[in-house]
Amino acid sequence: MSKVWVLGHGQLGAMLQHAAMPLSVEVIPVDIDSEQLPDLQADDVVTAEREQWPTTPVTEKLAKHPNFINLDVFGRLADRLTQKQLLDDLGLATSPWKLVDDTLAAEQVYAELGERALMKRRTGGYDGRGQFWLKQSENTQIPDDWRNEAIVEQGINFDEEMAIVGVRDREGKKFFYPLTLTLQLNGVLTASVAPLARLDKLQPKAEAMLGKLLDGLDYVGVMAMECFRVGDELIVNELAPRVHNTAHWTQAGASVSQFESHIRAVAGVPLAKPQVKGLNVMINLLGTPHDERWWAISGAEPYWYGKEVREGRKVGHITFTHSGDKKLIQGLDELKALLPERYEEVIDWVETAVQ
Ligand code: ATP
Ligand code: MG
Ligand code: MG
Repeated sequence: MSKVWVLGHGQLGAMLQHAAMPLSVEVIPVDIDSEQLPDLQADDVVTAEREQWPTTPVTEKLAKHPNFINLDVFGRLADRLTQKQLLDDLGLATSPWKLVDDTLAAEQVYAELGERALMKRRTGGYDGRGQFWLKQSENTQIPDDWRNEAIVEQGINFDEEMAIVGVRDREGKKFFYPLTLTLQLNGVLTASVAPLARLDKLQPKAEAMLGKLLDGLDYVGVMAMECFRVGDELIVNELAPRVHNTAHWTQAGASVSQFESHIRAVAGVPLAKPQVKGLNVMINLLGTPHDERWWAISGAEPYWYGKEVREGRKVGHITFTHSGDKKLIQGLDELKALLPERYEEVIDWVETAVQ
């Protein structure tokens, strides 16, 4: 049987590989810096766990394979300039923006985008890195080293942040997971909750928006769309052409996880509508040392990435799938007692969200 090669060998590649086992599809995450080149066969398929990559002998070989799914989409979305242009072309709401070129003056930004604007590096940013706030009240100017490398967008006073993940197969059939409420602290996803009945009315809108992107790009596999909710409106923050942290809860809480959906789509296995098993909560483990006691919490499904623990680094996540009683709060309280103090506000946010 053909194999699925994943460009990148981080936790997302590992989770794709894990999810593919019951399908009997062999998934092989590839270290892009390896000296050993992948032994690609003509009917193999290539996908990626990251948006962007440097040119190495391995990535060069993978990118030459005719079955690298969505190859042209990666470059388009990895550059915030072309990503914003795509959103504008498709008429999808996104924060108004401008290119930071040689001549753009901060005064022009304040006049056109408002008193608070966020510069974002065109490429390479994640977890809130590569961002710089311009504030009229502080008369912030544009530093020279941001010119020709960044866009600037309006600061949005959003009510909350959420994301939707969808999957599309080669024939254009699509399925979506429910909107997931997210908590970003210092630009890093820290917790998520889904589904929430109060977001049901936004679900069709979110599906139509992401569906337009998937069809417009003739995309195959899983894509994530991060949004700001402002009243009843959704504004696209950014897109990711891959499996996404905001849908990690689907491992425990959906009949078909996002990882399995992605592999099914790229490998040509039929898709199925994911059935959601309950109310799901996911907490990211950020720079937290491994603790065996997590495994003893009733209802908790910890997933450890096996990486070296460094401050703020994503080293695992814990999911709870609610069975319809008070056990979720009980489990979260147990977890709170085992996590560093900074998690208190995170668990409190989750407990409020699920009430
Ligand atoms: P990720 O790790 O999700 O890929 P990223 O580094 O690519 O993140 P963004 O998602 O663009 O960056 O921004 C990170 C966070 O910064 C957002 O989740 C949001 O909290 C805040 N943010 C981004 N853009 C805006 C904006 N226009 N107005 C207000 N807040 C914003
Ligand atoms: Mg991003
Ligand atoms: Mg983001």
